[in-house]
Amino acid sequence: MRQFYLSGATRSYAFRKQQLLALKRSITDHETEIYEALYSDLRKSREECWVTENGFLLAELNDALRHLRRWMQPEAVPTNLLNFPSGSRVLYEPLGVTLIIGPWNYPLQLLFTPLVGAIAAGNCVVLKPSEFAPATSAVMQKIIEASFSKEYILYVPGDGATVIPDMMKNFSFDHVFYTGSTSVGKIIYQMAAEKLVPVTLELGGKSPCVVESDGNIPVAAKRIAMTKFSNAGQMCVAPDYVLVHRSVKEKLVAELKKRIVQYFGEKPEESYNYGKLINEKQFDRVSRYLQQGNIIHGGRTNRQTLFIEPTLLEPTDLSAAVMKEEIFGPVLPVIGFETMEEALHIIAENPDPLSFYVFSSDPDKETRWLNAVPSGGACINNASWHLTNYNLPFGGRGSSGMGAYHGKYSFDTFSHKRAVMKTPAWFDPALKYPPFKGKLGIFKKIIR
Ligand code: NAD
Repeated sequence: MRQFYLSGATRSYAFRKQQLLALKRSITDHETEIYEALYSDLRKSREECWVTENGFLLAELNDALRHLRRWMQPEAVPTNLLNFPSGSRVLYEPLGVTLIIGPWNYPLQLLFTPLVGAIAAGNCVVLKPSEFAPATSAVMQKIIEASFSKEYILYVPGDGATVIPDMMKNFSFDHVFYTGSTSVGKIIYQMAAEKLVPVTLELGGKSPCVVESDGNIPVAAKRIAMTKFSNAGQMCVAPDYVLVHRSVKEKLVAELKKRIVQYFGEKPEESYNYGKLINEKQFDRVSRYLQQGNIIHGGRTNRQTLFIEPTLLEPTDLSAAVMKEEIFGPVLPVIGFETMEEALHIIAENPDPLSFYVFSSDPDKETRWLNAVPSGGACINNASWHLTNYNLPFGGRGSSGMGAYHGKYSFDTFSHKRAVMKTPAWFDPALKYPPFKGKLGIFKKIIR
């Protein structure tokens, strides 16, 4: 791969465009297999797949195809007086041989969306999927191997704890792009640090959702229930818990219940629209949260089918695991608050979430909440949908990650911004060269 990269083969516009088209074709050719695999791994419907997996990815691919030529253009920037009459520009150069590591919850989209950026930016790529979505992993391998040579894009399935340290110890990647849990993110960061390899870390966290007294409660409930229970809650930007002003709590809970039944019926386990937990380990972890509060809706489970009902929970103890760990499942704690300070106190227990949501009809309140809660991204009167707009950077801050991608931001993440200055020979004042004695006054005029 290193040799292939150094040959310069990946750098031209024509090559990059061709590869993006090849990926697009291969994804389209395998559409039915993608649906079958995602159903097998996570019980996703075809419609949900289109919105969050293959359709989402195709939108990113089309955006890259539309703008690639412009993204690749060197960017002319002004030159300061000190360097007159030089010209300055920024070149967007590929990083080299990169590693992309994916999780299991949106196994296709979260492995291939960064790939779009890596290809667009002219890199070679090693792809490491999650071992916990085996059906999707097998289809992704076919998609990649049908379109690309192994020296350009290499697909490496397998147990992450074995395969990744092995690769990172024996090879110096030029960048590692990791999506997954914060705990494994730390391991990746440490391994990368050994060789000073730069990283992008797309991690998790507890994304709070605030519903203010003046929020539109039916709309809030509709939107919160939609994204919280999509993919059975296994979404990095799902509202983790709801903080609702006490004056509207009862109304919100009633509306949430109504929406859950409307979306998934009385028997969500039979619903076309409702997913399952990925495996027993996740099922057991999420099931434990059901004991940590009063269940106000749902609560039924079936370990055999990895089913956990969409559940509303009033936590009895805010120091219980359900309020400490990222839930990553279909359990939504609903907690009342009286003052903003009280709510901020709860949020501060898990700082720097990946996302933050606030429902209010008062723009001043919106601003106060946004300023008070730092997060990777945010929505006002909505939840999670910001990630589907590829014109916005997607990423965390602090414990929810570093770096961002989607659209042009993916291209930037996988490019080195090379600063280039070109200076003509026709003007070369003696002022710039020693001896400097006596030039301080003029230096002070030029450099300030
Ligand atoms: P995970 O950390 O278990 O696994 C992610 C990847 O790391 C997998 O490919 C796995 O093989 C590999 N891995 C596991 N153990 C490893 C080890 N010891 N050394 C090296 N690699 C190892 O994460 P997950 O359970 O697949 O995903 C769930 C988490 O990911 C949640 O916390 C969620 O919030 C987060 N997530 C974040 C985003 C985002 O965009 N920020 C998106 C989806 C999921």
